[in-house]
Amino acid sequence: MTDLLGPVHRESAESSLRRRFEGRLVGPDDPAYDEVRAVWNGMHERRPSLVARCSNAADVGAALRYAAATGRAVTVRGGGHNVAGTAVADGAVMIDLSLMRGVDVDPGARIARAQGGCLLRDLDAATLAHGLACPAGVVSHTGLGGLALGGGYGWLGRKWGLTCDHLLAAEVVLADGTVVEATEEEHPELLWGLRGGGGNLGIVTRFTLRLRPVGPVSYRTGVFPLSEAAAALADYRAFAEAQGPDLHAVGALKHAGRQDWIPAELRGAPALFLTAAWFGAEELGPARTAPLFARAAPGATASRVMSYAQLQALGDHGEPHGNRYFTKSCYLTGLSAGPVGQLIGSAREMPSPRSSVDFEYLRGAICDVPDADSAFPRRDAPYICTVSAQWTDPAEDAANAAWSRRGVERLADWQFGGAYVNYLQDEKPGKVAEVYGAARYERLAAVKRRYDPDNVLAGNQNIPPAAHPHA
Ligand SMILES: Cc1cc2nc3c(=O)[nH]c(=O)nc-3n(C[C@H](O)[C@H](O)[C@H](O)COP(=O)(O)OP(=O)(O)OC[C@H]3O[C@@H](n4cnc5c(N)ncnc54)[C@H](O)[C@@H]3O)c2cc1C
Repeated sequence: MTDLLGPVHRESAESSLRRRFEGRLVGPDDPAYDEVRAVWNGMHERRPSLVARCSNAADVGAALRYAAATGRAVTVRGGGHNVAGTAVADGAVMIDLSLMRGVDVDPGARIARAQGGCLLRDLDAATLAHGLACPAGVVSHTGLGGLALGGGYGWLGRKWGLTCDHLLAAEVVLADGTVVEATEEEHPELLWGLRGGGGNLGIVTRFTLRLRPVGPVSYRTGVFPLSEAAAALADYRAFAEAQGPDLHAVGALKHAGRQDWIPAELRGAPALFLTAAWFGAEELGPARTAPLFARAAPGATASRVMSYAQLQALGDHGEPHGNRYFTKSCYLTGLSAGPVGQLIGSAREMPSPRSSVDFEYLRGAICDVPDADSAFPRRDAPYICTVSAQWTDPAEDAANAAWSRRGVERLADWQFGGAYVNYLQDEKPGKVAEVYGAARYERLAAVKRRYDPDNVLAGNQNIPPAAHPHA
């Protein structure tokens, strides 16, 4: 970015920020700079002009004012997990919330107040002490901020709905640095937009979330050789679509690992994994999860009862920080033989053994929430599919991105339309408008005009402010 300010003006803006800032300011000369500017996806090696490690809402406001005074762009970092790397940009001020990870729980009211930089594991640790949880994503080192503001699919989605459906209120630092509390009574339109509209409308420093009771989870998984995958996926479809909200079933095509329960002949080759998790009465778990594996012959299955915290951490080791990632995603109308053949085709062509093709049947409580209650679009999408490449060598970037892109393109005939905003990456212009659909997009753009008329918060899946009606 061209620096239009003189050095004196910039220095006074910086010294004024340093005077009032209670967190930590990290510039390019600071020994901590490389660590704090890094995000989860190693593809995004970018150099912000300053990382403002905020400790409270006032720090966030001060950092926004500093960025405005110095003409810098702004990015917001929650957990740093966004695959598109929207939390970091060259030359921008990174407003880093990762020091703000406190959670207060009111078990009687079943409410948690979680600071804007929490990881999912921070929230779970605090709420599970009371036998409660807020439905959220499946990898515990994901940030609550980006996940909740974009929607939030996870194990409990079919039973209780999305994370954004549990957002009761939010403390928000607006683009001009002022702080408001968005509730159903105060700033209701802002609250509506925060439920699915992404990071466009303000910086959330505290989420107030409804909690749900959770108990032990009955978990059963099985691995099939690719030769059995088409038959097993026909069974998966029949099984998943017949279940009530207490059961969530997911599938993945990926290379089989070396765990004890996986047969030696399947290890190291692409295989199909199916998993059923039962959230109802524990004694019913075995009978409810077993039918997923009753017809097509799996190479092996494994089952156990685990805590919800264990379930939430199961995926943690598979997607480590710093590797290179490229993900494309789409919703599917169904899982007939046509898309199944394409998914298996992608598995056969996987250029990297760490990659995966993941899919799950959604519906359940996600569809019970009235469509008008949130900015989140396409609640009725039956299936979501992600084609996720993971590798380490930059020389393999092009091959992996091409595989992921092609993995979704080949599903074109069965796509439901739209996409999940939190999985967008490297899209054509107009994709964000397509995600929300015309009416929702226009409403979000009008909310944006009210709360961020200059589009200060543009480092996201951006919805520019609507033009003023009288302009
Ligand atoms: C390993 C992995 C597993 C995942 N699993 C799931 C899953 O199970 N379910 C699911 O729904 N999604 C999942 N996701 C996608 C996830 O929802 C997005 O990557 C999301 O953006 C992560 O949020 P973050 O805060 O970590 O991201 P960041 O990269 O820190 O932030 C992304 C954007 O979110 C906004 N943002 C973040 N925090 C705030 C805040 N407090 N206030 C305002 N804006 C903010 C900003 O615009 C920022 O640019 C997963 C991602 C990964 C990498």
